[in-house]
Amino acid sequence: MGRARDNAWQEVNKTMHLKTEAVTWLKEGRVDVLLGYKEVDGHSIPFCFQKEHPEEAEGLIAGTARYPLEKMAARIAEAHPEFTIGILARDCNQRALHVLALWNQIQPDKIRTLSLACCPSTLKDHGDCTYLEPRKTGFYKRQAGIDGNLDLEALEAYAPKERFDRWMYEFQKCIKCYGCRNICPVCFCEECSLEHPDLIATGAVPPEIPLFHLVRAVHMAGRCVDCGLCEDACPMDIPLRTLYRKVNRIVRDVFDYQTGTCEETSPFSAIGDGVTLELKPLARVA
Ligand code: SF4
Ligand code: SF4
Ligand code: SF4
Repeated sequence: MGRARDNAWQEVNKTMHLKTEAVTWLKEGRVDVLLGYKEVDGHSIPFCFQKEHPEEAEGLIAGTARYPLEKMAARIAEAHPEFTIGILARDCNQRALHVLALWNQIQPDKIRTLSLACCPSTLKDHGDCTYLEPRKTGFYKRQAGIDGNLDLEALEAYAPKERFDRWMYEFQKCIKCYGCRNICPVCFCEECSLEHPDLIATGAVPPEIPLFHLVRAVHMAGRCVDCGLCEDACPMDIPLRTLYRKVNRIVRDVFDYQTGTCEETSPFSAIGDGVTLELKPLARVA
């Protein structure tokens, strides 16, 4: 009981601090806009606070909502490169900002983050997010090896055939809504391969299996920051996060590259110019 009350107080203090900072930043022109959340009709929605109305930032909330605010920042920066943009940033937002800067989607010196330390764990160590509700995976799925709560090692203990069949089952549920791509903070291509008619046929649901999902998975290798937004957004409950964790794991193991923290773009880049593939040096055998 005491601890619950302490936590509640901590939350109140944290929110008060964020509001004060946000109002000050806008009032003093330290930022032109600040992306955060506000409550509307009982729902947390992303909101762009502006320096013309700093008092509105009194309505800033931390809440539990998560949106790709950094992706919105990149759009604003495109339209207003002169803007300094403030962002209420959780750890996953910070990792995405890092990737967006590496890919020249934002200028780091034009971004100020108001840190919200919601989650002590990052992809640096592991990708669990305390804001993501534990998934309730049904018995059959668990038996077949698909469980959003499984780590990759546990998943890979299943026979390849079982894993393959279950992924194919998951992929055929896809309704090609593009929600996973649209919400993803590091999906920013002007021309998306998932809409290329030579690659993915139009007017067909489910989309080509497994091509649609493998194209996206390959593109996420070395870019996915494990924020989990795609999986949250997927109306068909496809365990996308697990898939992208796997491709990131491969990039880490083969190229010694840690997404979201390394200071250069991934050596495995299936999109963009200047593809180079530099393998990690082989371990010396004694
Ligand atoms: S977890 Fe999903 S939404 Fe988040 S960066 Fe990775 S692919 Fe994008
Ligand atoms: S990374 Fe791939 S899936 Fe994402 S927007 Fe670019 S082309 Fe589309
Ligand atoms: S969000 Fe889910 S259903 Fe929609 S395109 Fe992505 S995987 Fe398919």
